[in-house]
Amino acid sequence: MSSSHTRESWNQRRASLEIHSQAFVDGRYQPAVGGETFECISPVDGCVLAEVASCDQADADQAVAAARRAFDSGIWSRMAPAQRKQVMIRFADVIEEHAEELALLETLDMGKPIKDALSVDIPGAARAIRWSGEAIDKLYDEVAATAHDQLGLVTREPVGVVAAIVPWNFPLMMACWKLGPALSAGNSVVLKPSEKSPLSAIRLAQLAIDAGLPAGVLNVLPGYGHTVGKALGLHQDVDTLVFTGSTRIAKQLMIYAGESNMKRVWLEAGGKSPNIVFADAPDLDAAAQAAAGAIAFNQGEVCTAGSRLLVEASIKELFVQKVAAALKASWQPGHPLDPHTTVGALVDTGQIETVLRYIEAGHAEGAELVAGGHRVMQESGGLFVEPTLFDGVTNDMRIAREEIFGPVLSVISFDSFEEAIAIANDTVYGLAAAVWTRDLSKAHRAARALRAGSVWVNQYDGGDMTAPFGGFKQSGNGRDKSLHAFDKYTEIKSTWIQL
Ligand code: NAD
Repeated sequence: MSSSHTRESWNQRRASLEIHSQAFVDGRYQPAVGGETFECISPVDGCVLAEVASCDQADADQAVAAARRAFDSGIWSRMAPAQRKQVMIRFADVIEEHAEELALLETLDMGKPIKDALSVDIPGAARAIRWSGEAIDKLYDEVAATAHDQLGLVTREPVGVVAAIVPWNFPLMMACWKLGPALSAGNSVVLKPSEKSPLSAIRLAQLAIDAGLPAGVLNVLPGYGHTVGKALGLHQDVDTLVFTGSTRIAKQLMIYAGESNMKRVWLEAGGKSPNIVFADAPDLDAAAQAAAGAIAFNQGEVCTAGSRLLVEASIKELFVQKVAAALKASWQPGHPLDPHTTVGALVDTGQIETVLRYIEAGHAEGAELVAGGHRVMQESGGLFVEPTLFDGVTNDMRIAREEIFGPVLSVISFDSFEEAIAIANDTVYGLAAAVWTRDLSKAHRAARALRAGSVWVNQYDGGDMTAPFGGFKQSGNGRDKSLHAFDKYTEIKSTWIQL
């Protein structure tokens, strides 16, 4: 999606932007039951965007009850898949019709460049809804290979009430990766956006109704993790909990499920992805551009950020220079509403403090700063950090082990294939990895050896709705996108009939 807006015209649009800030339950906006609100502050300039409903246990009870009623009524859950498909496709169309409004909400709320909100987030959200909707009337159940006097049916059913808890880095797109298959499969959903980026999800709820989704099928509860998030995690009437966020909270959700009703828990969690550049990479300039983008895109607030750059020793010096040059030329912070900006604001003061602390840790542990390293544009009132490049990193340093979730890249050198794979896999995470080589056999051997849910060869961050997305190890379980995503949102039933 493109737009002819300038920074000035986006600012004008902002002045007339209507911001919805209430919870959405059973088809209508309402304040939190307890009347609480929290301030939604823009990281772009520190302005208060809205006072947002701060939901808690009572809101969770109401929304789950509404979702359950809608599910049991069959108005959506028993609708023919071909009809559900039509609603989902309309829903995607409506998202696209509101692309500029949603993109503006996304940028103001969490700081990403408007260019990316328009070209990545909103189209990605619409694609997830449309792709899942289009798939749902093409999925067949199974007939088991039985003896002649038996009939065995293996059928998929919607699980019931799904609670979806999502993060702030791609607020609408992460929500729609869940909503696409969850709704298409016939479930009812209670969506909890991050308290750091609630606005687009709140708006989305009304758009779903406009597209024809029955009331109660999609409910949205803004609020904090330790209040309404926890209430959903512990709820006795939530059948499935799907989550994207940090590994720390993912573990907590498993505990909630065990302490309550053993709801199914599907987790997309953190990462510390290795980007491995061998000396025989087909095009070092392209690899350097990609390495820079892999850490600077979305301010490094990407679960698959290529935050560990593993470079073969013989080309390391040259390659680091190329990455530094690419960062300088293409990835410098700017005002998020300027259509040319590639690096926006970090999401909030807590996040910028975390990133600056990791930069200090890099210095303290003896890594060598090659580029960036500072907070900039403070006069704007916004939260901006230069993309930062550390060379001379070893894999035991904190900046190599811990997910920073900011634009801080660690360069680690290696001497052999075996050493590269060992370093790459020496992490608790397993979300993604990339390999650059012109040797096909080496690429395949690396892809097999890397313990990660996605492996890219001679590119970074490829894939579309057809490719499953998710993690090995502490990066989570289950997969978003592709037909595999339906595994999260359906129960398998065996029906055995005596003929
Ligand atoms: P987070 O774990 O802090 O929060 C995620 C969501 O969980 C938010 O909605 C939050 O309110 C909620 N939450 C927090 N505490 C909770 C609790 N006790 N009970 C229930 N809910 C609770 O993560 P974040 O800071 O919003 O997002 C960044 C993280 O997300 C990073 O670790 C990143 O790698 C990960 N992420 C993963 C993927 C993926 O697909 N694997 C994609 C995007 C982001």
